[in-house]
Amino acid sequence: MPASGPRVVVIGLDSASPWTLNERFRPFTPRLNELLARSVRGTLRTIDPPITVPAWAVMFSGMDPGSLGIYGFRHRRPGTYFDQYVPSSRTLLQPMVWDRLSRLGRRVAVMGMPPGYPPPTVNGVYISDFLTPDGARDFVSPPSLAEEIRTAGGGYTFDVTFRADDRDRIARELLEMTRQHLAVARHLWKKERWDFFALHEIGPDRLHHTFWKYFDPRHPRYEENPKFREVAEQYYRRLDAGIGAWLDEIPDDVRVLVVSDHGSQAMQGCFCINEWLIQQGHLTLKGPRPKPGTPLEEASIDWGKTRAWGAGGYYARIFYNVKGREPEGRLAARDVPEFEAQLTRELQGIRGPDGRPLGVDVRVPKMIYRQVRGDSPDLMVYFANAAWRSAGTLGYDTLYLAENDTGPDDSVHSFDGVYAISDPAQGRGTVGPTERLIDIGPTVLDLLGAPVPPEIQGRPIAGFR
Ligand SMILES: [Zn+2]
Repeated sequence: MPASGPRVVVIGLDSASPWTLNERFRPFTPRLNELLARSVRGTLRTIDPPITVPAWAVMFSGMDPGSLGIYGFRHRRPGTYFDQYVPSSRTLLQPMVWDRLSRLGRRVAVMGMPPGYPPPTVNGVYISDFLTPDGARDFVSPPSLAEEIRTAGGGYTFDVTFRADDRDRIARELLEMTRQHLAVARHLWKKERWDFFALHEIGPDRLHHTFWKYFDPRHPRYEENPKFREVAEQYYRRLDAGIGAWLDEIPDDVRVLVVSDHGSQAMQGCFCINEWLIQQGHLTLKGPRPKPGTPLEEASIDWGKTRAWGAGGYYARIFYNVKGREPEGRLAARDVPEFEAQLTRELQGIRGPDGRPLGVDVRVPKMIYRQVRGDSPDLMVYFANAAWRSAGTLGYDTLYLAENDTGPDDSVHSFDGVYAISDPAQGRGTVGPTERLIDIGPTVLDLLGAPVPPEIQGRPIAGFR
């Protein structure tokens, strides 16, 4: 490409929602506001399921989770009940935008886009993501850049341990991690004339999980705590200042995108999916009720009497115990459709603690994806638009928990994320329609004048070239 070819920068803010970005923290983000004001911006509808790893992969492949073979964070290994794996960059079954651009000889720099470990080889640089194992030395491709990156960042952190009570530590580590990422982004940006540069920042997501109940008075467990409220505001202020310093070094003709993988919302509570399956007679335990908080895999399950079991998380994954597929299968394969229909009806009838319908959405992977590759759950279930988590643990005398069963957590994901695409030709921005997350990668290809293959499912958002 000539030196005057189009260029794109993507700033990926994990978990940024219309409310957090445009309302709650708006007073603390003058530089982002300025960028948004000269962008076409709006709501970015995420995918089923609204989970970080598949969402970013869908965004930058233009393919749905079924085609990618990634359905969330943990995946069950086939032929086992509880053996799980977490997707890696090797799990991806489709090329990403940076792979396609690399093949065209474009120069790309990618920081932290999940799933990004081990870092794939690209025509440029790729730094691995928040799933990078502690102490991994192979976090950047090419590996010769490792020391330079650590020096530029004053260290390089991939994630902070959250769902813990020591919030002062989490606050400190979050600010430092995001500072490092932005310092490295600015360092790499100045190294050469990149055609495509993408940064993923996990910090906002961790901040929301850890501090939501201190900055949102509508949170059901809202706590007045000026120190922690200010942590959240200070985080956004520093994030904004770091992005602003970088924007000062980005020429006006470069397209800048701000995007999120999903939104976030206050967590209303946890629904105990396995307790419910026991009540419905689909899951049977041997012996007495286990103690509260017992993981299902540590309970004594009577598989001969069990038709289905569930897993916890932002949504419930439900698996059927099928003869010939599971080690001690109970359901005949021919009976699965009837069982699925019955279970779906029962799920849709679930009520909340106030006796009113909880609002349950059931998704069948084979019905919503073009194809189902890899290891998908049999059903994906959302409670109250994902405002309620799924608790997989057992031993409760209730179906409803106020707090997360796997550690302190104040927020959950929501289906509405954000997008903004700067428009240098217009020089001023507008509020655009709600767009689809799967269309962002194809839009990037289109902005860069690269072909958008007909076989990918996403399409370029109209009106930007
Ligand atoms: Zn996320």
